[in-house]
Amino acid sequence: MESTRIFYDSGEFVTVNQSHETTRFAPSPNGSLHLGHAFSAIIAHDLAKETGGRFLLRIEDIDGARSRPELADEFREDLAWLGLEWEEVAAQSTRLETYTKAAARLREMGLLYPCQCTRAEIKRASTKFGPEGPVYPGTCKHKEISQDISVTWRLDTSAAIAQSGQLKWLDQLAGPQKASPQMLGDVVLVRKDDPASYHLAVTLDDAADGISLVTRGADLFAATHIHRLLQELLELPVPSWHHHVLLLDSAGEKLAKRKGSASLSDMRRQGKDGRALAANLRARVFPAGISLGNA
Ligand code: GLU
Repeated sequence: MESTRIFYDSGEFVTVNQSHETTRFAPSPNGSLHLGHAFSAIIAHDLAKETGGRFLLRIEDIDGARSRPELADEFREDLAWLGLEWEEVAAQSTRLETYTKAAARLREMGLLYPCQCTRAEIKRASTKFGPEGPVYPGTCKHKEISQDISVTWRLDTSAAIAQSGQLKWLDQLAGPQKASPQMLGDVVLVRKDDPASYHLAVTLDDAADGISLVTRGADLFAATHIHRLLQELLELPVPSWHHHVLLLDSAGEKLAKRKGSASLSDMRRQGKDGRALAANLRARVFPAGISLGNA
């Protein structure tokens, strides 16, 4: 089967019949999966399967301090319980060398600078609030920072934009977008304790895994502006994106592991029917207290 979609090719948007989409579900093993994850995984799964494509599972365990390895098995059992079929690709913890090489390349291009600011310092000095919180005010950009101490490495976003020019990207639901990475500012690409931040790791992984349609929640929409810029700088292929609407709880807030939203593993252990739940989520029929956010 084919799905018609607009495709980004050599700087232009063209309409093509796309078959064999490769999508992925990329959970971080720092807490159990909840209904929002089930919804996201089902959307990615179905978008691949309806085009005869591939649905991949990637465990995003780049955050060494917060990752709990035992959760990966729980996630696999949750997905099977929902009736999904997937292929699993390498977890982030096995790809560290790729991240280090990409960061070295960006450093050689003069696009990374070391930073030793704390969160509190950034909050105090920032004058702009962006999609990910206070925008980094550039404090360390022109400072001599000793690299003997532990530092993060930030992207010099304005220099990167000057090199790449105006970029575009396509969201299947929201339509064509002009990349505006400047609104996120100089994001961290290499963390103090890990060789990549989420932005760098996910961009490299999606390219390495041959993802043609990046499917994830609308809360990560803004991050895509930075990912599109990184693709250009690192000469990576450009997929399309599908940022789906989030599920909300009774307070109208997005579900979160830390807020104790009911976990799929609890439902599974209580003997609930995962396939029936998946059918309901597909039909947009939600358990009491859960609703769909605004598009
Ligand atoms: N690992 C991220 C999370 O669990 C998802 C990243 C993505 O889909 O791009 O929130």
